[in-house]
Amino acid sequence: MIKENLQKIKATLPESVTLVAVSKTKPVSDIQEAYDAGHRAFGENYPQEMRDKHEVLPQDIQWHFIGHLQTNKIKYIIPFVTLIHSIDSANLLEAVNKEAKKHDRVVDCLLQFHIAMEETKFGLDMDEARQLLDSEAFKAMENVRICGVMGMATFTNDEVEVRKEFKHLKDIFDTLKTDYFADQPQFKEISMGMSEDYPIAVEEGATMVRVGSKIFGARNYNI
Ligand SMILES: *Cc1c(COP(=O)(O)O)cnc(C)c1O
Repeated sequence: MIKENLQKIKATLPESVTLVAVSKTKPVSDIQEAYDAGHRAFGENYPQEMRDKHEVLPQDIQWHFIGHLQTNKIKYIIPFVTLIHSIDSANLLEAVNKEAKKHDRVVDCLLQFHIAMEETKFGLDMDEARQLLDSEAFKAMENVRICGVMGMATFTNDEVEVRKEFKHLKDIFDTLKTDYFADQPQFKEISMGMSEDYPIAVEEGATMVRVGSKIFGARNYNI
């Protein structure tokens, strides 16, 4: 069913929107099936799991890291990661920059914002983002490139609330674009929307959606 699910979702997405297939906790055989159907962009939440999958799967897969990243685990993903969606502190960005330098890479990153009502979701607020982007430390980082923003909406059936949160992230993107990245074409990504809410996210300006269970089926445990 993976191939059919991918086709169904892609048929509903504008050409310009990237579908990141979230394969966390799913076996490599599932990823291979999606790959054989022509899909290349996959999202993972756990550094070691992503590294292990990267080792055994085709090398032209684009690996998106979307989970909370601890600084001591950055090393597992830096050699090959395509995009880190979840930069939620200046410290983390600094540590990514340092590790990327060791590998002589410039690693693309998104700033994760806290847009949900839940207290538990990670992410920056606007003040923290400005502090980061204004800092001398940031200006000195040569091995990371900020390509946009990411956020997760509240887990709720309330479509009005979810839409409001996606609009908020789009506003954050527009403000940062104007204030910090006006002359930087790589700052263009808005990563928002999951299985239950990606159509709303696309309507509100998402350029990347992260869809797991709608492609691979429900996960065995809730994470
Ligand atoms: C697990 C996860 C997803 C995908 O969730 P689904 O509801 O299965 O589509 C997307 N984004 C993040 C950050 C996740 O952790």
